[in-house]
Amino acid sequence: MTAYDFDLITIGAGSGGVRASRLAAEAGRRVAVVEGSRVGGTCVMRGCVPKKLLVIGAGFASELADAEAFGWRIEGAEFDWARLVAAKNAELNRLETIYARVLREAGVTLVEGRGTLVDPHTIQVGERRLTAATILVATGGKPFLPTLPGIEHAITSNEALDLMQLPRRAVIVGGGYIAVEFAGIFNALGVEVTQILRGEAILRGFDPDLRAAQTEEMRALGVDIRPRTLVRAIERDRTGTRVLTADPEGNPGETIETDLILYATGRRPNSAGLGLEAAGVEIDERGAIIVDAFSRTSVRHIWAVGDVTNRLNLTPAALAEAGAFVRTAFQGCPTAIDHQLVPTAVFGAPPLATVGLGEDEARRLYGSVDVYLSRFRPLRQGLTGREGRALVKLVVERDDDHVLGVHVIGPDAPEIIQGFAVALRCRATKAQFDATLGVHPTAAEELVTLRQRRPEPVPPSAPDADATDSPSLSPAPEPDAQPQPDPDTDPEQTAPDPS
Ligand code: FAD
Ligand code: NDP
Repeated sequence: MTAYDFDLITIGAGSGGVRASRLAAEAGRRVAVVEGSRVGGTCVMRGCVPKKLLVIGAGFASELADAEAFGWRIEGAEFDWARLVAAKNAELNRLETIYARVLREAGVTLVEGRGTLVDPHTIQVGERRLTAATILVATGGKPFLPTLPGIEHAITSNEALDLMQLPRRAVIVGGGYIAVEFAGIFNALGVEVTQILRGEAILRGFDPDLRAAQTEEMRALGVDIRPRTLVRAIERDRTGTRVLTADPEGNPGETIETDLILYATGRRPNSAGLGLEAAGVEIDERGAIIVDAFSRTSVRHIWAVGDVTNRLNLTPAALAEAGAFVRTAFQGCPTAIDHQLVPTAVFGAPPLATVGLGEDEARRLYGSVDVYLSRFRPLRQGLTGREGRALVKLVVERDDDHVLGVHVIGPDAPEIIQGFAVALRCRATKAQFDATLGVHPTAAEELVTLRQRRPEPVPPSAPDADATDSPSLSPAPEPDAQPQPDPDTDPEQTAPDPS
């Protein structure tokens, strides 16, 4: 039998790579992990963590403004972006040290440098060649930018997290997670934000009411959202930076003067230049490594987890895939990945969160579904006078009463959704939601006090191919049209359930 240097070499010390390497080492395997940048990967260094710290920092703007309504006198409050960025970076340094220590204490060898496969069992890192019986590719993803004149003047989320100073105006291209989150951060901090969408609406794939309500809320907070707008070119000269737009047919549109252009137009798997083809590992047309339900590639001893496989590009998914890989490859317990019912949050302003199916997808898969929806003004806004409404929505399978989807917009949406994800995993029914008493006064209790079904939508008169992309074209009636007791007329969001 060939003697390899290691039982496992992992390429990439991000969410998936660190988890898999540590667990494999704790299971008694000789493990090395190769990292070309910073231990912790996208989530800790360029994603979830720094983003959330900026979201928290930006959130104090409205907290301070609201505090006045609750008796606080706040004078001379000033915001210093450079201090926030420095504090964030100090925290990232601390976390990087902790991640490296966790690996070391588990007995994992950390190899610094970029790794490439030179043959199916050998990884080259600089001048070194390391061999392993099993290889795990966990190299994550990177921002994707379309090709167009002047695109070199645009930045991505990588740079947005480390701006030297806040711009006065920003154009954000895209309507996904990153675009919505940075629109929230910048807008809260006083930047004039224009958000450009090529399609009809933000957050493709989310529930149509959630998309429509989030758009409404963001606009009310001051984000200038422009659907059906393409970018023809970006120009920069001594007089400033301009975004030249076009309509979907390509006809020239408005020119937008700006100070910063952030492209948040998706990410692509980090698979190029890894030597995968030479090793016989198959990738798809987007560069994602093709794996089976156990994360095994087309080469038996090479596995891949996380964003490089482009299945569900979220940190908890990468962590779960890594754990399942270790159980399958090293612990004699083949564990397939279940990507169903994964809760997710968009930390925008306001934040939103969701688990399970949106209404359109549920109707497509199940035919008849019941919908329960409420929009209400959160309690604190009674004092602040601030506009904006929260949303809670349930999508329920009509035949057997199982709750298929839970959707929430509001300040605590990401915290609320976690517990409801457990309920959906337990296949909770609407009757069980109804039998659950609320926590009063909270926004979350609205999810267990929804009593009136929304009337069936009237089918559109002509089929519309783009209907799922457009909340305004959605067959569902506008949220306000529902015959629910209107919480806006109720002085308390959390008034006792009349039924
Ligand atoms: P990564 O964490 O990307 O790690 C890959 C590692 O591989 C990197 O450290 C990279 O340097 C290294 N690498 C690449 N190539 C090589 C090579 N050849 N040799 C050596 N090392 C290499 N997800 C959430 O769940 N919640 C959030 O709030 C959230 N916010 C996000 C915000 C932003 C701005 C972004 C960009 C992403 C966010 N995500 C969030 C997504 C999340 O970060 C990813 O899904 C997650 O990090 C994927 O983990 P991974 O292990 O697949 O890859
Ligand atoms: P998303 O896939 O979420 O959104 C991409 C957006 O870019 C869409 O609105 C898409 O429009 C638009 N787009 C794509 N190509 C073009 C183009 N050529 N021109 C104009 N617009 C374009 O990607 P993000 O970059 O926002 O985030 C990447 C991934 O990272 C997310 O999908 C998510 O998995 C993860 N993430 C998770 C977070 C969280 O959990 N809170 C936070 C941040 C990232 P259209 O809708 O028309 O396709």
